[in-house]
Amino acid sequence: MSESDRVRRFTLERHPIRGHAVRISRAWLELREHQDYPPAVQALLGEAVGAVVLLAATLKFDGSLTLQLQGKGLVNLLVAQCTHDFKVRAMARHDPIGGEAGFRTLTGDGQIVVTVEATDRASSYQGVVPIAGNSLAESLEAYFVQSEQLPTRVALASTPGVVVGMLVQRLPGEGGKAPVDPAALEAAWMKADHAMAALTRTELLEDDVEQRLVSMFGDDEVRVFGGHDVAHECRCSRERVANVLRSLGAEEVRSVIAEQGACTVTCEFCQKPYRFDAIDVEQLFSGGPPPGSTAIN
Ligand SMILES: [Zn+2]
Repeated sequence: MSESDRVRRFTLERHPIRGHAVRISRAWLELREHQDYPPAVQALLGEAVGAVVLLAATLKFDGSLTLQLQGKGLVNLLVAQCTHDFKVRAMARHDPIGGEAGFRTLTGDGQIVVTVEATDRASSYQGVVPIAGNSLAESLEAYFVQSEQLPTRVALASTPGVVVGMLVQRLPGEGGKAPVDPAALEAAWMKADHAMAALTRTELLEDDVEQRLVSMFGDDEVRVFGGHDVAHECRCSRERVANVLRSLGAEEVRSVIAEQGACTVTCEFCQKPYRFDAIDVEQLFSGGPPPGSTAIN
């Protein structure tokens, strides 16, 4: 059975070690439908999409989780978002790139900002870590150690056709059903740690998640759950764009109309254009009925 576009949880039967595995294919293609990134940026964007789904899977929240990479390298800004029900979108801004570029050339020095915007304000959260190591996966491991004090191993890979990711986490010992034997837990964690380190890109890209987990942890040990679908969805709307225009102020928007005849705002995530003509703009600032809600495409 294909595991495409699913994030699945797994646990080890006898130890407080859990993980999540994600594989995204269709949503990854849809997300880039109107984007055209150089291969190196696209690969990093894919890993960020895998990462944000894994992050969302580890947390309980109702809203959206955003991973932002803010660096001084060729990629100035990269944003990947995932909602609690695993709707993803992502975009990157970058300088011209000719050919190959490694992780640190792309990101430079900078930081990773993880933001949870929850409908329940108390669950909202922001964490910032410096970009670390030589991959997004290493930076994410540093994030988990800092923000949640949980030893975590992360593997990420992306190709033009698929994004895959896996995360294994050692939970605090207490709270489990059985009393925890510290030596046995340490041994189990070391085994998981080694299995993650030994996992090759080819193995990670293989599409049978269950088989991979069994070969890493043993079939009497790992329990894999059904998981959730992952889909692409952009949350942009004409109303949100109208609010942005209102916040710019009547004077500025009218001057654009005077120069260009219309004001077109393109969504940075999905590239959908939202066009406001002179009448739409006057309605925006008259406090009258909101302009029609269909996008002009
Ligand atoms: Zn959009």
